[in-house]
Parts: sequence; structure tokens; C-alpha cells
Amino acid sequence: MTSVKHSREKVFQPLASGIDPFGRFLNSSAWLKPLEVRLDGDRIRWGPWESSNKLLSARTGEGLLEGFVQLADAPAATILKYVRKWGVLGICRHGLPCTHPPSFAENVNSLELRFGCAPLGFGTDEGPWEPLESWRGYSRLAKALLTITVRLHGEELQAKRFEKQEEWSLVGKWPLTQRALAANGIQLPSERSSSIQERSALACVIQILIDLGRVDLCLRWRKENPSVEVRTGGLFGALAVQLLMSIGPTDGIALCSGCGSPYSPERQPNPNRRQYCPRCRKGKVPQRDAARASRRRQRGLQS
Ligand SMILES: [Zn+2]
Ligand SMILES: [Zn+2]
Repeated sequence: MTSVKHSREKVFQPLASGIDPFGRFLNSSAWLKPLEVRLDGDRIRWGPWESSNKLLSARTGEGLLEGFVQLADAPAATILKYVRKWGVLGICRHGLPCTHPPSFAENVNSLELRFGCAPLGFGTDEGPWEPLESWRGYSRLAKALLTITVRLHGEELQAKRFEKQEEWSLVGKWPLTQRALAANGIQLPSERSSSIQERSALACVIQILIDLGRVDLCLRWRKENPSVEVRTGGLFGALAVQLLMSIGPTDGIALCSGCGSPYSPERQPNPNRRQYCPRCRKGKVPQRDAARASRRRQRGLQS
């Protein structure tokens, strides 16, 4: 019997591929990117998916989630750069990715109930667009969930400057969090919550993101061996999958002592030392902190 099981495992290519420190990649299907993207005040306007048979697509790869969590407080130009590389979130009038199940929103009309939601402005004269604030909001949400994950894996020292309350109150502000937690009989974690309660709540919120992003499995069989791919409704689903994959052992994720962003360190971080993301290292934040610490030490010696 075991041999049968074995051969079956061999025939199918494994679902996970590549060992990215920022989570394990899944073989993912590609999603379409708009052909044109531009900034217009606090909006990202985007053009058609296709013109004279030209198509652009993106696929899960290095920097997908790591880059996304850095957008929380990023200037518009940085967000635009990310959109050019990875595509749009496809935000609908409910402030959700348009792949969301109808039951996840209030005031769903009969058209949306039947065919699903459309991105904001889609099919109108002004054309499709999405608010920069949605980008920053979902980035903050992903960043908070990753920070909670790192803390739950016991890396207290790295995360100690973050109050448990701070991340959960941010996650709790997202309307779908309260709804999903209530539906599962889970309370929003507070300072007094156990890590079991926190883990359940975290899993629950990530599940909503997966459901919003219309994630499913798909079978491909072009080459000799069939393979299984994760198919998503677009970028949002791909980010949700990466978030889910990052919940596993998080040896590969550290929190930057400078800006607090989760990032993938080049080597195993020493929990007793400060560590910095590439962006802060480039901005000479470690040197600034070291100078500050040395001034503090000197002041301590003088007094
Ligand atoms: Zn909607
Ligand atoms: Zn940093």
C-alpha cells in the first residue's frame, strides 16, 4: 500500500516550490496586470487589461509580500511602482477586493449578487481606479498580522516595543474582523488574552483574506507530470496566500528595529541585538541609533 502512496506523491509535483525566507512560495497561476497605471491625486487610475492582444501578467515571487507591507506609510510614487510590478488590488465600492463573496458586504445589489462586484469606476467613462488609502490600509493590516505572527512564535525581544493592543486594535478596526470573529465565537484579543486565543483570532482573519481573494486549487497537465497550482482572483488573493504561508515557522522574518516593518534578514538575527531592514540600512538608521546610544552612555557616565 505504501508504494502506491509513494508513486502518487512522485507523479504530482509538490504544491510548494522555492524556499523564500519570507514565506514559502506556492506554485501560483499568473494574474493579469493593467496595461497602464497612473497617479491622480489620491487615486490610482488604471487602463485596460488587453489591447491588440497585448497582455501583462504577474506571478508570485520574491518581494511580493515584503514589498507590500512596506507600503503602509509609503509615498504615492512607491505604491505606484509596486502596482506597476504586481498589479492592482481591484477594490470595489464596498472597499473590498472585487473578488469578495457577496455575503461579505452590506447593500449588495442584484447585479452584484449575480455576477460579482466590479472594480471602482470599471465600465464608466472615468475608467477604473482605486484609492491609495485602500493600499495603505491593507498594507497596515498585513503588517499588523505579520507582526502578531512573529510575536506568537516567541520572538518577544524583537517585538517587545510593539504593544499587543496596538496591532490587534488596528486589525479590529477592519469591519470584517469583528464580523468573522463573532461568527466563530472568538473575541478580539486584548492584553489579557492567551496566545491560544490570539492564534485562533489570527487564523480567522487570515481565512477571511483568503476567502476575499477567491483562492482555489487548479490542476495543470501539459508536461509529463501533472502539477497542482494555487489560483487566485488576482493580486489580493496572492498576497493572502503569501500571508498564510508566512504563518508557518517564521525563521525567515524579523521585525526591523528602525521602522518596525517585517522583512527577511540575510542571516539568522541575534535576538539580543538591534536589526534593520535594507531600507533603514540604506537610510543610515543603524548609525543614527548607535550614535544616540553612545551619547546616552556618555551622558550616563558624566552624571
Ligand atoms: Zn463589492
Ligand atoms: Zn526598517
